[in-house]
Amino acid sequence: MQSGLNLGADFLGGLSTKSVEPAYTIRLSSGASATTVYGKETANRGEAGPPQMNLPLTFPLQKPEQCLACPYNLIGQGFVPDHVPSNPRLAFLAEAAGETEMMDRGPLLGATGRMFFHQLLHPVGLTREDVILANVLRCHPPENVMPIGQLRKDAEKMCRMYDKLHQIKHDDSVGLVDGGLHSYSPDYFLITVHPSFVNRTWSILRVAQEDIKKSLRLAEGRRLLVLLGDTPMKLVCSDLEGGVLKWRGHHGVLDWKKFQERFK
Ligand code: SF4
Repeated sequence: MQSGLNLGADFLGGLSTKSVEPAYTIRLSSGASATTVYGKETANRGEAGPPQMNLPLTFPLQKPEQCLACPYNLIGQGFVPDHVPSNPRLAFLAEAAGETEMMDRGPLLGATGRMFFHQLLHPVGLTREDVILANVLRCHPPENVMPIGQLRKDAEKMCRMYDKLHQIKHDDSVGLVDGGLHSYSPDYFLITVHPSFVNRTWSILRVAQEDIKKSLRLAEGRRLLVLLGDTPMKLVCSDLEGGVLKWRGHHGVLDWKKFQERFK
């Protein structure tokens, strides 16, 4: 059973005082909650799946000049453009670039990316070329410590400009053009845990796998954005109380245009 519940989300999130209508309506997931015991289905663990991209280790991309206006510019390291294939089936929004991702210049690489693809996406037939991968912050927070307070709000707000930009060149220049997540224009969202959390807490793997299966069902006829962890969940659903373990598995309608308007 699904019941519609408009939570009256405050999309301003403290970033602006402009009053706007909520940009999303969340639906309680079918019997899912943080306490639901999941699945008798056998997870397809260890399936090799399509080969991973073997990107050579390199050095971080320089930030685009637009980052100069961001107060996090001198703290966040490198720049990781979104991964935007030509015909995406769904999109994922993660937290921030990790160190490996910063060095290899792409989202969801390294140990977290291996787990994400081998354990979550490949078993349901998804490859890197099926999904948009984006981050709330496109640079790497030193020591993986996210900024806090007003600095975090300002950095998250500034980084929304890159929701509209898509990398076309893959050399030492960033080469951003219009497109990407903004052109995809998500109209529905699902909340789940971040793959790095699964890497640290393997007991939650089955739950994360069930969420990915659900995401495939929800993506039918929609442009689904999967929110990976607390940071993207709080960005999109800023009035939800509690953490991602409370809300994972829940989903709802997303008005991308209203979401973008919050950051103007
Ligand atoms: S948070 Fe985003 S806008 Fe700010 S410096 Fe990092 S990449 Fe640039």
